[in-house]
Parts: sequence; structure tokens; C-alpha cells
Amino acid sequence: MPRKNTPRRLTILGSTGSVGKNTVKLIQNDPDNYKVEVLTANTNVELLAQQANETGASLAVVADETKYAALKSSLKNSKTEAAAGFSALLDAASAPVDWVMAAIVGAAGLKPTMSAIRNSSVVALANKECLVCAGEVMLTEIDKSKSKVLPVDSEHNAIFQVFEHEQRNKIEKIILTASGGPFWGKSLQDMKNATPEEAVNHPNWNMGPKISIDSATMMNKGLELIEAYYLFSIEEAKIDVLIHPESIVHSMVSYCDGTILAQLGTPDMQIPISYTLGWPNRIQNSTKRLDLSSIGTLRFEKPDDALFPALKLARHALSLGGGAPAIFNAANEVAVEAFLQKQIKFLDIVKVVECTLENSSINEVCSIDDVIAIDEETRRISREQIMLLNLTRNL
Ligand code: NDP
Repeated sequence: MPRKNTPRRLTILGSTGSVGKNTVKLIQNDPDNYKVEVLTANTNVELLAQQANETGASLAVVADETKYAALKSSLKNSKTEAAAGFSALLDAASAPVDWVMAAIVGAAGLKPTMSAIRNSSVVALANKECLVCAGEVMLTEIDKSKSKVLPVDSEHNAIFQVFEHEQRNKIEKIILTASGGPFWGKSLQDMKNATPEEAVNHPNWNMGPKISIDSATMMNKGLELIEAYYLFSIEEAKIDVLIHPESIVHSMVSYCDGTILAQLGTPDMQIPISYTLGWPNRIQNSTKRLDLSSIGTLRFEKPDDALFPALKLARHALSLGGGAPAIFNAANEVAVEAFLQKQIKFLDIVKVVECTLENSSINEVCSIDDVIAIDEETRRISREQIMLLNLTRNL
């Protein structure tokens, strides 16, 4: 009988989220080959404890300190150690493991992801916001570390799979595909009074609330454009976006000989996660196989900047440079939260980001502390912009 390999030691940052849960599912299909060291959540201790018990994790960390007692109590009959608070999260993210899933949502994931990059062999990067706001600083850290960073976002994962590094000077452009989200084909009038429930209802993907709203505004594609700029070191003008409502072609790379290479698959995050888990090999999973004959038609259209101005705004933030992408990201996080809390309307999200960019000074970014300072200041300015917007509306 062939000898089994030593199980790979894994950490899942944000295990209770949509990407985190898909990651847990994949490793549960093949428990002999993986040893879960660390699982983390923000507040959801019930699911965190359940995942810890099911996977036999060594450590479970909840970022919200007030949840420590609840976590400890849920884990009282298990071998999993409990910890809480931001510094415990950072310590856990620094554990030297073979593979880390970085799936905390938003800029909150920045420091833990950076710790993972410094200390683990492979980092599967789902948290696009941290690359958007820390850009060059994060790339420098990746270069200094021995860690291999693999994109989880389905578009960037697709590009990674068809990007011929040795031919990079022969690449004419990369083409990010976008589903268009729940409001594709709708008018501004239709979107004006869209509710959070309608906006999170993505036609193809089942995701967490923040990225679902980002898909509806197309801020997600803006963030992904900036993510692609950093991940693949490609100039902004060479990154195109195409609306592809079926979400089957996950992205493409166009070469100088007229060839376009694309990666296709059903819209299921387990496919890109599985790719990063197996890399550099492919591993078996039980996802639904793509049956193109039953789909029949694949459509592609140009995005409409008048209906979805977020993409143009992302290009503008990138052209401003310095801390502008961090401002773009933090303002969007504040605006999405305000929309989910019903404090602003759907179309206000992009307006808040635009006004925040206009009212912020663009400073250089040389360190993570610079990024965090920009992030905090932007959140203050964005909240001000939301107040102003609501005040002028009520006049
Ligand atoms: P979810 O909202 O579903 O999950 C977020 C995870 O992060 C949860 O585990 C949550 O814990 C944890 N978390 C939230 N805030 C904090 C905090 N302040 N400190 C520590 N942990 C925190 O998000 P998704 O899984 O949808 O997305 C995760 C990331 O992956 C995002 O950056 C997103 O853009 C990206 N992504 C997601 C895709 C998807 O299909 N969902 C596709 C491609 C990229 P708790 O459950 O306790 O709140």
C-alpha cells in the first residue's frame, strides 16, 4: 500500500464566512490529508466551535473579546484551545503552517493576512480589500517572505491559471469578467429604491453580504481591477472588464498572437479554493461539472459607466496613486455598512465613495501603519459625507 503523505497543516482566517465555510467543506472531504491548526471568526462562536469540533482544530480564535466565555464554554469538551481578541488573532495568523486561507472580510483582515504572509508557506488570498488598500506595501512583504500568495477570487484565480509568466511581455490585456450582479439590465430608476435584501440577492453566486452589495454596485469589479493591477503587475489600461451574465468564463488573458486563454467552470467558489488548496497539483472535488450544451449561449457585453460608475471611479483611484485605493476601499466599506443598516440609499454608495475621495488628501503609503492611518481617517470623512448627504436630502 502506498504510504500516506504527512497531512498539511492549515489555518482558516474567517472560517465562519462564505469562503471559510466552503474551505472547511473541501477539507472535510479529505480529512487524512489535512490537519487544521487554527480557525477564526469575528463573533459567530457557535459555528466556530462546531467547525473546531468537526475538524479537530488545535486553536479557535474569536476576534470579539466579549465572546471569549461563550467560545470557551462551547469548547469545554473538546481538545481545541480557545482564544479571543485582536492580538490573539494576530498570534494565530502567525502560526507557521503550510497553507492559510485569508478570508476575513474588509480591511480588518489586513494585519492578520500580513502575519500569515510572513510565516506560512502558501497564502490563499480571498481578502481582496487588503491588497487594494496596502498595494505596494503588501507586495514588498510578499517579496521578502518565502510565502507563495495564490488568488482565490474566481477572476484572479482564472487569470493565474492562464497567465504565461515567461510570456508576460506578449500579453496585450487581461479581461476580467463580471456577472453584472442583481441589477444588470435595470435602470437608475429601478435601482434608486433597491433594498439591501434585493441587492444581496446575487443571481449566480452565494456570497457574504459585503461582497454581494459590492457586486450589485460593481464596486467589486473596481476592487478586483485594483487587485489585478497589483497581483499581475499589469498597467491599468491593459485591464478590461466585460459583463458576462452566465459567470462561466471566469476571466481571460489576451496574447499578442490573437490567442485568448480563459478558465471556465460552474460558479462555485469551491473550484478556485480547491485549486489553491492543491497547488501546484490539481485535486479532486465533487463540484458540479460544467455542461456547456445545457447552457447553450454565453453572452458578453461592455459595462455601462453611466449606470455603474464604480468601475470608472476605481480607475480614477488607481491613477491618483498613493493612498487613493485605500481611501476608495475604506469609503466603500463604510458606505456598504450604512446601506445595509438602511442609513443611505443604494445609489448613494458610489456617491459617498466619490465625495470621500474628493474630500481627502492623497498621501504616500510607505508602511502598514500609513495604510491604517488612511483607513481610519477615511472612515471619519465617509461618515461625515453620509451625514451631509442625508442632511441635504432632508432640506
Ligand atoms: P463573509 O462576510 O461571509 O465572512 C467574513 C469572515 O470574516 C467571517 O468569518 C467573519 O466572522 C470574519 N470577520 C468579519 N469581520 C472581522 C473582524 N473585524 N475581525 C476578524 N474576523 C472578521 O465574507 P465572504 O466569505 O463572502 O468574503 C471574505 C473575503 O473573500 C472578502 O474579502 C471577499 O471580498 C472575498 N471573496 C469572497 C467571495 C465569496 O464567494 N464569498 C468570492 C471572492 C472573494 P463572523 O462570521 O464571526 O462575522
